[in-house]
Amino acid sequence: MPRPLVATIHSAALRHNLSVAQNAAPQSRVWAIVKANAYGHGLARGLRAFAQADGLGLIEVDAALQLRDMGWTKPVLLLEGFFDESDLPELAMRDIQFAVHCSEQIDMLAKAALPSTVHVHLKMNSGMNRLGFVAEKLQDAYQRLKAIPQVRQITLMTHFANADDRENAHMPLAEQVRRFHSATQGLAGERSLANSAAVLSHPDVAADWVRPGIMLYGATPGGKTAAEFGLQAAMTLNSEIIGMQTIKPGDAIGYGSRFVAEKVMTIGVVACGYADGYPRHAPAGTPVMVDGIRTRIVGRVSMDMLNVDLTDVPGAHVGSKVELWGKHVPIDEVANAAGTIGYELMCAVAPRVAVVED
Ligand SMILES: *Cc1c(COP(=O)(O)O)cnc(C)c1O
Repeated sequence: MPRPLVATIHSAALRHNLSVAQNAAPQSRVWAIVKANAYGHGLARGLRAFAQADGLGLIEVDAALQLRDMGWTKPVLLLEGFFDESDLPELAMRDIQFAVHCSEQIDMLAKAALPSTVHVHLKMNSGMNRLGFVAEKLQDAYQRLKAIPQVRQITLMTHFANADDRENAHMPLAEQVRRFHSATQGLAGERSLANSAAVLSHPDVAADWVRPGIMLYGATPGGKTAAEFGLQAAMTLNSEIIGMQTIKPGDAIGYGSRFVAEKVMTIGVVACGYADGYPRHAPAGTPVMVDGIRTRIVGRVSMDMLNVDLTDVPGAHVGSKVELWGKHVPIDEVANAAGTIGYELMCAVAPRVAVVED
């Protein structure tokens, strides 16, 4: 018997969430973002579930080539561009589009001998101050790209720092949009701006292309809950109770004896720990479901196990089904309790966790 810990990927939910993105941006074409192994859901599963997307976007060069090997013939986009000049001939040959965010990349492109032409995405830093050319450097970068005979098409892109936060005083989305429009004025090319948060909360900024990621996997980018946005959980992480203890007032649980019982309690031990990707810093009180009843974790998460409070789950027994997150326990609630975001949890599911698809 394998360990009872299994991540189930709900392909119907992936397809549904893509349609939510398409309906939210009906005039735009959609890059379904599948970086980080489709946010932990599996690259091949992403490819199949997002067959109706207009393109697939990601970060990893090897995974981009795998998409082609797996038969994806529509556009593929590398969101951070290429990392080394030696990658360029193969990217060109296999028609993989890529971002260009710094002048060093333009230098490499200008001197590369390419077997065919390329479609590049010129990235503007409109206020996030991560990748991209600032407004004053954008026109020059555009003209340099335009002068390279192997560059057949230039799309203009930028990325938002606070699309989930209408009120952000430091860098409001509207200011990034204003800078982008002003810096790209008069430049020919399609526009690509919106991540999930912008698709869902700022439909007015959807341009030629949108780039949703997290929403496709059924977690919220912020603003409202995933359910309020009409999204469905695409991953359920299930395990089982593998042991039980009855403890008395004053008894402590687990490493560090961090949780001390104030009354008689029934504790269940679940086969799932931080080596599986469950956050070690999840505190007592983090939600979990046992046999369909919501309860909480208690004590410190260890490498291979965690403890749950079964005091109010009367029928619980060794073998009881546990949902760590998924259809009933939103991944965002677990992430919130642990001080992180759904993105991190889904990307961190460890290779030793069995994955099935329903
Ligand atoms: C990851 C990423 C996205 C998708 O962001 P979500 O918040 O997951 O929707 C879009 N654009 C770029 C450039 C990215 O790196």
